[in-house]
Amino acid sequence: MNTSAATKNNDIRVIRAQNLACTHGFSTRTGGVSEGVYASLNLGLNRGDNPDKVKENWQLFASAVGLIKDGEEAMFVSTQQVHGNRVAYVTEKDLSIAQDGFQIKETDGLVTDKPKVALTVWTADCHPVLLHDPQAHVIAALHCGWKSTVADIMKCGIAEMTKLGADPSRIRVAIGPGIRKCCFETHDEVPRAIDELIGADVAKQIGAYELTNKKTGQYHCDLAAVIACRLEQLGIPSFSIETLGECTCCHPKTYYSHRVSKGGDRGSLASIIRMD
Ligand SMILES: [Zn+2]
Repeated sequence: MNTSAATKNNDIRVIRAQNLACTHGFSTRTGGVSEGVYASLNLGLNRGDNPDKVKENWQLFASAVGLIKDGEEAMFVSTQQVHGNRVAYVTEKDLSIAQDGFQIKETDGLVTDKPKVALTVWTADCHPVLLHDPQAHVIAALHCGWKSTVADIMKCGIAEMTKLGADPSRIRVAIGPGIRKCCFETHDEVPRAIDELIGADVAKQIGAYELTNKKTGQYHCDLAAVIACRLEQLGIPSFSIETLGECTCCHPKTYYSHRVSKGGDRGSLASIIRMD
């Protein structure tokens, strides 16, 4: 490794939840080696960035998270996300390195009860959601854009965790940085799907969406609130749910934002969780 990596490492800002008692972190875009639209800590494996730089960024991020020590290679389970609700059970056999690309196909959630298996989620406006039952030793990572959310990936994730001995009353959750209500403008298909997921009365109660332009029929939706509400409906206590970070769209210098990038020319944030 060169010295620039060590220097850059100091600029890396990893966001951590207070309520997750295992190795984990949400990335931001500072402190990496990528350039241009990918500047600088791009962790996306298929964004068109230089693969060597992505690999180096992964080393920097994994080391900042505490996943690896000097000389070790960052190993994690990677998924090809499709905005669905499939949650896959994985073990150490599924670990790979950044250059291997996406290993688990068409999957937006991962669950494991094995130590040393790092689960990942890629985002740039969608919410990454990390879950941990410290007693059953079960973790999960979910990619929650609006489509996966209304397809109830939370329910699929908790069902998989429960199969491994987890109990919703013990599961702790961190909802990572994503697009917030200030910027998440949609047409009425999103509010309608939210109503179906959590119930129209509940949606109203928590301010899940708001009609902000009667002329164009546009709404602003609070996806983080919907995810938290659904997790509560599934039995996770509200005090075990933590929502972190700022709006990715309002803070494009700190986060990659799909909406800000317009054409999708951008890097990706990554979130990671592992039991040791
Ligand atoms: Zn915003």
